[in-house]
Amino acid sequence: MRALALHADVLVFVSDVWQTSCTAVRAGDEGFVIDSPVYPEELRVLPGVLEQAGYPVSGLLTTHGDWDHLLGRLAFPGAALAAGESTVARLGSELGQAHRELREFDEEHYVADRAPLSLGSLQALPVPGRLEIGDGPGAHELELYPTGGHTADGTAFWLDWCTVLVCGDYLSPVEIPAISPGGSVSDYRATLKRLSPLVAGAEWVVPGHGAPITGARAQEILAEDDEYLAELERDAAGARLPGSRGSTPPQRKLHDANVAAVLAP
Ligand SMILES: [Zn+2]
Repeated sequence: MRALALHADVLVFVSDVWQTSCTAVRAGDEGFVIDSPVYPEELRVLPGVLEQAGYPVSGLLTTHGDWDHLLGRLAFPGAALAAGESTVARLGSELGQAHRELREFDEEHYVADRAPLSLGSLQALPVPGRLEIGDGPGAHELELYPTGGHTADGTAFWLDWCTVLVCGDYLSPVEIPAISPGGSVSDYRATLKRLSPLVAGAEWVVPGHGAPITGARAQEILAEDDEYLAELERDAAGARLPGSRGSTPPQRKLHDANVAAVLAP
């Protein structure tokens, strides 16, 4: 797991698998952890690293309900998990899916010593909306934006005082857009359009997979991904993969799944 400081109030961890990202943000004596690393050892070291760095953990947040982003409570069992209302609704209707997929991953990769995952009672946050962090003169706000398209649910967090955007599974430097069950190309493109002004004003963008990228690089990826999605909409079978990422077999597999999702009746 890599750790990167983007700002005095923002630390990002990048997991050794899928480069799944986890963002710690603080203001005064309050702090949130958004999403999670994946391997047990990465989750085990997280509380100590954040304590040493002076990052309080008052609560956990997630960008969306895919299991690899939901593991924060394995590191902080006493902290409550909050998510956008679309994610809470999705997790409520998919009882057990995250647990099942986590178990399948651990079995496939011989990952041992994982404590059972309990999401606790999820707190639903209104999106669009704002979440206060800290109090008094050092208080700030996280702005929440809806991000459907990859899945049916999703929330991006804009940290205005740091100009950092934590966007979930969009704008990845390592993964092409993925239309998962519940997602759609049109919703994905609407999300890119919604995020575009934030990306233009961001110093850093933290994608769900891959190390943080500059706002300028994120703008390039946004344009490339929108072009790819436009081609999928026009002529799914003939769409060309995004040039900077589409060359490996796993990305081709994602592309084939996208084509199948678009062509499905
Ligand atoms: Zn993901």
